[in-house]
Amino acid sequence: MELYSTNNKHLKVSLEQAVMRSLAPDKGLYMPDSIPELNPSFIQHLDRFSFQEIAFEVCKSLMKGAIPLANIREIIDDSINFPAPVVMLDDNIGSLELWHGPSMAFKDFGACFMAALMAYFIRNEDKKHTILVATSGDTGGAVASGFYDKPGIEVIILYPSGKVSDLQEKQLTTLGKNITALEINGTFDDCQALVKEAFNDHDLNNRFHLSSANSINIARLIPQSFYYFEAYKQVMHLHKHLVFSVPSGNFGNLTAGLLAKRMGLPVSRFIAATNSNHIFPDFLNTGVYDPKPAIATISNAMDVGDPSNFVRIQDMYDRDLSAIQKDVSGFWLNDEETRAAMIDAFSKYNYVCDPHGAIAYKALRSLSDDELGIFLETAHPCKFQDVVEDTLNHKMELSSDLLTLMTKTKNAVSMEADFSSFKSYLLSRQ
Ligand SMILES: *Cc1c(COP(=O)(O)O)cnc(C)c1O
Repeated sequence: MELYSTNNKHLKVSLEQAVMRSLAPDKGLYMPDSIPELNPSFIQHLDRFSFQEIAFEVCKSLMKGAIPLANIREIIDDSINFPAPVVMLDDNIGSLELWHGPSMAFKDFGACFMAALMAYFIRNEDKKHTILVATSGDTGGAVASGFYDKPGIEVIILYPSGKVSDLQEKQLTTLGKNITALEINGTFDDCQALVKEAFNDHDLNNRFHLSSANSINIARLIPQSFYYFEAYKQVMHLHKHLVFSVPSGNFGNLTAGLLAKRMGLPVSRFIAATNSNHIFPDFLNTGVYDPKPAIATISNAMDVGDPSNFVRIQDMYDRDLSAIQKDVSGFWLNDEETRAAMIDAFSKYNYVCDPHGAIAYKALRSLSDDELGIFLETAHPCKFQDVVEDTLNHKMELSSDLLTLMTKTKNAVSMEADFSSFKSYLLSRQ
């Protein structure tokens, strides 16, 4: 396997380089130089395989030659160890629940796999690697639990003070060991700017091996294709045309679905479901990509005005708009409509959707009879407890694990959104 930069197909690197660097030097995103089709008989008999076996087959084809098979197996065993069940609401609609991992969001698949892969790549090094990550909520918890206690890796998570939910804050501030949380007196954009500046700082780069765990890393994208196969496996006996509806922000999840289709998964079409940040649905309608500053919504993990994986989708389809339109349609709801969608799912099916999944659910209300729609439930609704309880007028029971988590003591370093403080903090840790 080799990967190229979306800005230059001739600039090829190994998987290890792509994972450790995250972004290409020309600021492009890495893409696999070939996307192999899986053996059709494997796909026809997908229901004979476990989730981990499916993940192994996908990796074996995609990552050919990059890592010995025995190590791929270890990486998968170590990371893809929670289920992705499809819960059918009626004959035509199912929810693919992607929140059964440690931080209860689909980002666990990407973060756990990336952590296991990185740990493999640095297994023989004695130098320490430092991962910097800025989070607006869900990424921090997923990265914290994915990288927790991985030898040779320190993780520093920057989050905006007062702007993540209590549960999200506990998930990233209570683990300790190799995970450090910095509570920044500023916004998510300030956190992201600090991380970017650190990557451009000579002193820091001379003293640390810095890596990024944000969602543009190819190691987070690859494992997200596994659960599309796993979902297909669970509904293939129904013999319907499969439609995936994907709640989208930076479009990593949708890109992984398109990758699965390219690898031979029989998906009839995808729906890109967004909130009022409907840059991509607009692009599908007009052919014009017009990024805008993000608007705050109740589905805040999708408040993205310039989706980072847009360039990957363009690259996969050779910038052919009509080819993209054949596979993907757009759909979006504002906050009021999102709340109405949550109420709709709850009153019709007694099913509690989180605000992100609810938009994707609503997008499936107009299927034809021969279609089966699966929406991705990207987070457990309790991660957005206030919105959900307020909208549905229904109290949610927290699991005992969560109740325990909420009693743990937060441990974070407070800091102004100022690069010199951040830099001296990093240097003082050496
Ligand atoms: C991150 C996130 C999304 C958006 O996923 P992308 O891959 O960035 O499109 C959707 N829902 C939830 C709950 C998330 O945490």
